[in-house]
Amino acid sequence: MREFRQQFATNAACLEYLVRCRWTEGFVCPKCSGQSAWLNSKRYVFECRSCGRQTSPIAGTIMHRSHVPVQEWFWAAYLVATHTPGISALQLQRQLGIGNYRAAWHLLHRLRRGMINEERTRLSGLIEADETHIGGPSKGKTGRGVAAAKHKTLVAGAVEVLTYKDDDGRPRERAGRIRLQAIQDAGEENIGTFIRRHIEPGSRIRTDGWRGYSDTALAGYKHSVRIVGVPERAHQRAPHIHRVFSKLKTWLLGTHHGVKPKYLQSYLDEYVFRFNRRRTPMAAFQTLLGISSRKPPLTLHALASPESKA
Ligand SMILES: [Zn+2]
Repeated sequence: MREFRQQFATNAACLEYLVRCRWTEGFVCPKCSGQSAWLNSKRYVFECRSCGRQTSPIAGTIMHRSHVPVQEWFWAAYLVATHTPGISALQLQRQLGIGNYRAAWHLLHRLRRGMINEERTRLSGLIEADETHIGGPSKGKTGRGVAAAKHKTLVAGAVEVLTYKDDDGRPRERAGRIRLQAIQDAGEENIGTFIRRHIEPGSRIRTDGWRGYSDTALAGYKHSVRIVGVPERAHQRAPHIHRVFSKLKTWLLGTHHGVKPKYLQSYLDEYVFRFNRRRTPMAAFQTLLGISSRKPPLTLHALASPESKA
């Protein structure tokens, strides 16, 4: 964080970074293709030295038309993207040194919305899948078919299992990307819908012997069943998804002191977002702010896309 704050110590430094993301080969005026501009760091605009056209590098990002300084957006996004296990509005307020809680809450809320991304590619390869109860009794998984108790939600989860060789050449496994989704019950219909939505057809899915993972639910997939004798030992049969569930529960309890079922899915989305980008914090940071060097900006009035230069 200190390194990040040093790199983005001023609004001008943040704007320069935005320019490098947007115009990978340097600033280009959308009107006259001039390549030289003045920076007005108070108004966040570049003024073309040739034609005077003003261009905003924050158009199309989450920061556009916000009265919060670009620098604070940068710091907040970095904290949200990297801080494990998650961050509350109060923590954000303290970390950034913002005067009021409402402003910190607003920043956090806007950044969280950036974590819901529907266009993700599906998981593939070897997958472990299972379900867990959130907010219910912590011991025993009785009544798996029905999430009857109040404030108790059933969550389906899937994780990619990646294999690699350690320093001694022994084969090892580690968790890749994950998906989490609240479901009504663990019947084959809901299980099947979850799997088709989140897992690439043809992948191998490793599950326990639960009847929800029927041939119908898994049509088009390869299935490996690991029968679990004692429920308490389930974590040994599907270690990766159980580790994901266990960390998820710790995070929900520790950071948010439990979550109402109504809001659970958005917290699951946040958890998935951070988990899947745990090795690429700067990519997470850019996604949250809406910065992208490949996609054209959402509002096209102020800016032409980089490709229009030619
Ligand atoms: Zn110009």
